[in-house]
Amino acid sequence: MSLKEAIAQITPSLLAMRRDFHQHPELAFQEVRTSAKLAEFLEGLGLEVTRGVAGTGLVARLKGARPGKTVLVRADMDALPIQEASGVPYSSQTPGVMHACGHDGHAAIAAHVAAVLVRQRESLEGEVRFVFQPAEEIVAGARPMVEAGVLEGVDRVVGLHLYSLMPAGQVGVRPGPSMAAADAFTLHLRGRGAHAAMPHEGVDTVLMAAHTVVALQSLVSRETDPIKTAVVTIATVQAGEGAHNVIPETAVLKGTLRTFEPELRERLMRRIAELAQGIAAAMGGSAWVEWKPGSPAVVNDPDLVERFRQVAKEVVGEERVLEVPPVMGGDDMAEFLNRRPGVYFWLGAGSSSPDQNRPHHHPGFWIDDERALPLGVELLTRTVLDFLR
Ligand SMILES: [Zn+2]
Ligand SMILES: [Zn+2]
Repeated sequence: MSLKEAIAQITPSLLAMRRDFHQHPELAFQEVRTSAKLAEFLEGLGLEVTRGVAGTGLVARLKGARPGKTVLVRADMDALPIQEASGVPYSSQTPGVMHACGHDGHAAIAAHVAAVLVRQRESLEGEVRFVFQPAEEIVAGARPMVEAGVLEGVDRVVGLHLYSLMPAGQVGVRPGPSMAAADAFTLHLRGRGAHAAMPHEGVDTVLMAAHTVVALQSLVSRETDPIKTAVVTIATVQAGEGAHNVIPETAVLKGTLRTFEPELRERLMRRIAELAQGIAAAMGGSAWVEWKPGSPAVVNDPDLVERFRQVAKEVVGEERVLEVPPVMGGDDMAEFLNRRPGVYFWLGAGSSSPDQNRPHHHPGFWIDDERALPLGVELLTRTVLDFLR
């Protein structure tokens, strides 16, 4: 039986699984039902399944008849706190929770790659390790999976993200940095409280905050190579308790840093602290920065991207394999790609008439699962077979 015939055979199960997950979405670290369904399915195929990795995560090993490389297939499975308004007959049955990013599709695709590959076990050289991680949307699930050892013995990794704004059947990929590192920071400023009519008695943290916000904007515009990419945004400014006549003792600034290159990321992290501390000190106060590091940038291995492209061209045709620009959004697939060479690619899953498509995280998010999902299985299956070589 050809690969296409095998995929056609499992397509009803693939769609049913995705739509079942869609009807029963679960938030980050609460993917109990999803994880249990996947575990049952994969155990039914005869894979070696480990449940409860990093909470609700799951690992399934498919060992070929002969030794060889180990390729890791990564899928996420969490939903979002959104009330669904897509109008599909298999809409979410859980109020306020929706699969609005396509992770239901990712999980179903990866499980069905296993269903296809298990038929080739006798000729398979090496191991295919399927990793279903929790909590991608809060960028918290991949790291504990890695710490639990899922990368041990892994040579290469691969994963996909469905993309609703790209017509079904198109594939997007780029070598090198593809998605940004996203780090959150909080700046704590301390001055000296005083009567607003006697500013000379105090150290004004409102003025300190204002200078700091303005000065931070020079980090990208004046200190970063214009050819490179970074974003520094202050999203929250807090000072004072609502009085007209009190100089507040403290102020808090919250923001995000987005970068692609590790050196630039580290430098800007350092410079944000230095600038804030320098301004505070110059004004007679003090500052300290608290970081909530996100995942690093998603960086694809150029050689493996080239191999993936060859595979993708055979599946969807050369004109449908696009080199896409990097995006400033993050994805914790980076935790795997930062430690092993691999490829993370976009698979178009939208309609060919663009006004029908809704962006990810939109209440009307919709994907053409009938067209996109079987292609996802074929692309991943063939890529795994290529990466095992
Ligand atoms: Zn998302
Ligand atoms: Zn997503």
